[in-house]
Amino acid sequence: MVSPRPSQAALARSASTSVLHRQLNKTYPRAVSAQGAFLYDASGKDYLDASGGAAVCALGHRHPRVIDAIKAQLDTLAYAHSAFFTSDAAEELGDWLVRRAPLGFGRVMFVSGGSEAVEAAVKLARQVHYERGDTGRVHFIARRQSYHGNTLGALALGHHPARRAPYEGLIGRFPVSHIAPCYAYRHQRPDETAEVYGLRAAAELEAEILRIGPEQVAAFVAETVSGSTIGAAPPAPGYLAHIRRICDKYGVFLILDEVMSGMGRTGHLFACAEDDVSPDFIAVAKGIGAGYQPIGAMLARDEHVQTITKGSGALAHGHTYMAHAAACAGALAVQRVIEDEDLLPRVRASGARLRTMLSERLGDHPNVGDIRGRGLFLAMEFVADRESKTPLNPRRKFAATLKDVAMENGLICYPASGTADGVSGDHVLLAPPFNISEDELTLLVERLGRSIEESLAQTTP
Ligand code: PLP
Repeated sequence: MVSPRPSQAALARSASTSVLHRQLNKTYPRAVSAQGAFLYDASGKDYLDASGGAAVCALGHRHPRVIDAIKAQLDTLAYAHSAFFTSDAAEELGDWLVRRAPLGFGRVMFVSGGSEAVEAAVKLARQVHYERGDTGRVHFIARRQSYHGNTLGALALGHHPARRAPYEGLIGRFPVSHIAPCYAYRHQRPDETAEVYGLRAAAELEAEILRIGPEQVAAFVAETVSGSTIGAAPPAPGYLAHIRRICDKYGVFLILDEVMSGMGRTGHLFACAEDDVSPDFIAVAKGIGAGYQPIGAMLARDEHVQTITKGSGALAHGHTYMAHAAACAGALAVQRVIEDEDLLPRVRASGARLRTMLSERLGDHPNVGDIRGRGLFLAMEFVADRESKTPLNPRRKFAATLKDVAMENGLICYPASGTADGVSGDHVLLAPPFNISEDELTLLVERLGRSIEESLAQTTP
């Protein structure tokens, strides 16, 4: 493992910033290099990247094949505007994805990130209704405690009170209503099986479609596995299949947001494959480029693309950096590595192993209410009391403390506090690289366990 020496100049630069970061009154350590599962700051300190930032770094850092592919692409063609050209990199990545996507997905739009992928899905869904003459379908249904991105449209779909607050007057004009998420730990009743709960949770969609009026509803949008706002909460058995049936019954499109959960993170390239459900549109990002290049993608079912092809013949949506050649080349290399190194079975095995290790180390902890997830997309929810599932007091800011303490202890994880409805606790999301080793998993659990203990000591009376 390479442990780089920081230059004096890099050390000197780490104290001040001209860059706007989200936390304005905080000093961020300066990341200067990375290798495998580790990042290094300007002082030479190592950080085990147990969440890939925000579930981004699927292959860890500095994978030589990905770097070589990007360099080779830059040596030939970095960028050609998609209104004038296509490129080998974009076409090969598109073919690669549609050959592995659920049946019937023949076309992909490449964008620069998750919010753009979600916006593209929403706008295409609406355009398809429009071109069919179904002009009344403008209403979208999404779920509480969800996150779909930070652009105004994606923000309206999501349900993140803090991020929405300054913009309520704007996003309130986008017709979106919200139903409950599928969140078994909080919502499944003691006398219910997981299957019965899944049907009950899905039935909320039907009730909402009928309340709005089916002829007005364009699409239902949901994360396949809820990511940052609930913490790796998978759908109950049968939930998504029932959602699909309800959407079909009323001509409502199903948009699955796999920005966090997709591209292998759950052990399946498309997370919905595990539920045997095929949506109308899929948004992916993060893991598709694994952090080597900023890229997202929106996949659309053939019949929807056909509707537009036979109608106006043009997408009413696009961006300057669509299908960026260097970004596509990087993402293609990432996807090839995942297949050549047989990483999807490894994600499932390492995910099961990590879950066992977390249960052994923390499963009996009085403040750990739930350990859940799929593949290497895992989360722990923290409570004040396991019996009653009472959340930790939000004023004590456990999640924010855990993030800082973990950084002190050389661990990058993704804690968040229950953000809506006051019915979820603080949680921490884990999304380590697909090729993480057994020793690194051990180190992860050790650093995380210590960080949790220290954070609880700092935030509970
Ligand atoms: N959708 C989900 C489920 C996400 O988790 C995120 C980001 O965390 C987004 C969309 C937005 O992606 P981006 O930050 O790349 O715009």
